[in-house]
Amino acid sequence: MTDTMTPEQRHLAMAHNRGRTRPELALAAALWHHGLRYLTNDGYKNRYHRKLPGQPDIIFPRERTVVFVDGCFWHGCPQCDKNPGKSGDFWRDKISANIERDRKMTACLEEANWAVIRIPEHEIKTKAALAHTAECLKSAIIETHASTVGTDGRP
Ligand SMILES: [Zn+2]
Repeated sequence: MTDTMTPEQRHLAMAHNRGRTRPELALAAALWHHGLRYLTNDGYKNRYHRKLPGQPDIIFPRERTVVFVDGCFWHGCPQCDKNPGKSGDFWRDKISANIERDRKMTACLEEANWAVIRIPEHEIKTKAALAHTAECLKSAIIETHASTVGTDGRP
């Protein structure tokens, strides 16, 4: 495939190579590189003049699929489980509230017939993990488009 990156995407990709970008931008750049075309939350707002619940990081309007990148700490990733017991209840409550909100937003979107994919940050932390996740997402999105809605993107 020819290089079809826009200057903006190239910038994102380069920022990722320097390791200074936010994880969701790294994932966005990887997906773009795989030939997937999406909107960001702002892009969606501008085009459709409405917002989606929970402000997804990456939106595929045609496939009716949204992708969230969840920071492992803030979203209480069970695999990383870095909940700081010693920091007391404040963080724990905050994280519980986040998990609860994630659940509500997912339900809300699914009710509106969107497929919701949540990617824990650790799945895109390294270059290898990022490449693997981008591959999985690509097939998930292509499958979603072809058949049903409702994958959560996790094995
Ligand atoms: Zn994690």
